[in-house]
Amino acid sequence: MKVAIQGAACVASGICGFIAPKVFPNREEIGGIVELLGPNPPQTEGDVARETE
Ligand code: SF4
Repeated sequence: MKVAIQGAACVASGICGFIAPKVFPNREEIGGIVELLGPNPPQTEGDVARETE
């Protein structure tokens, strides 16, 4: 699974980080805007990340 983000559309709600924190860390230091740890998460994390679509 390949994951991508649309940072310009992010409103920093943190839902993606709540659902899949190992894929989207949403760090407070950058205002909670979505961040991607890597475009190819492990299968188990990718399955969870799919729920954020
Ligand atoms: S990308 Fe994540 S933090 Fe940003 S608006 Fe969507 S769910 Fe919220």
